[in-house]
Amino acid sequence: MTAVLTDIVDEIKHLKARENATLLAHYYQDGEIQELADFNGDSLSLARAATQVKTGTIVFCGVHFMAETAKILNPSKRVLMPDLDAGCSLADSCPAPKLARYQEMLRLNGRKFHTVTYINSTAAVKALSDWVVTSGNAQDIIKRVPEEYEILFVPDRHLGQYLQEVTGRTMILWNGSCMVHEIFSVGDLLALKRKLPRALTIAHPECPANIREHSEFVGGTEAMVRYVDKIAEPTDFLVATEANMLWQLEHKVPRHRYHPVPGITCACNKCPHMGRNTLEKLRDCLATGRPEVVWQPEFDRAKEVLQRSLLR
Ligand code: SF4
Repeated sequence: MTAVLTDIVDEIKHLKARENATLLAHYYQDGEIQELADFNGDSLSLARAATQVKTGTIVFCGVHFMAETAKILNPSKRVLMPDLDAGCSLADSCPAPKLARYQEMLRLNGRKFHTVTYINSTAAVKALSDWVVTSGNAQDIIKRVPEEYEILFVPDRHLGQYLQEVTGRTMILWNGSCMVHEIFSVGDLLALKRKLPRALTIAHPECPANIREHSEFVGGTEAMVRYVDKIAEPTDFLVATEANMLWQLEHKVPRHRYHPVPGITCACNKCPHMGRNTLEKLRDCLATGRPEVVWQPEFDRAKEVLQRSLLR
């Protein structure tokens, strides 16, 4: 570690103690941020972890909808995030007013449906939903939707297609996608498979079908860790999700070798939104107490839906 890095890491540790803060970080954050966190996880485990935080402040290293969820589930806490503009292309693809108009159109057409919303969405969209799911609990939640109701699944069409395949339920799919998972190159994946013929491919369900169908395992990030951990013999894994997940896999199950599946336009598939959170911004937000995620009117209804979906 360079002297500059050591200095800033020490500063963050000092400020975290001074502010009585708990640092929660998503698996898609840079390894140096994950290393400093009190808890790393996927969206579901981070949402649950937020409810258990005992300190007065949560510093959330992830994107905006995740920090919003932490605030909604533990409202008495001060929730800071290093960069309030760390957004998500998937959440942006489903604006609440557009969803409300679409739901109204379906109702006017006599359709009876439940809206099942991926957690990668704004609180305003969650407030319009019956259920919120993550890649970790989506199949269980879908079983809870009575058969006589159709399912409107928003906003990720790839995850929705995958859930249709594994649950057998037909869904009305919103046309959204994640800019990171959308651009994996199937040609480069097949070339990697030829180079490493014994390798196993693990893909996130946000990936398009042409990547999933060439994968030995499809699952969210926590499920990926469990899958590789079950394989005793050192193995090559081709990993089709955000590239920082490799840090977590190498950290938790170091006996294997992990290779990122490249994208069409970028060799590493890092999320630019997650990348807005840096060590410098983390230090500054702890030092100044800003930016802070503050309570919004739509959080009340979103809280009901989140609690029913993720905590019960
Ligand atoms: S990886 Fe995709 S879904 Fe996750 S935060 Fe980035 S843009 Fe959103």
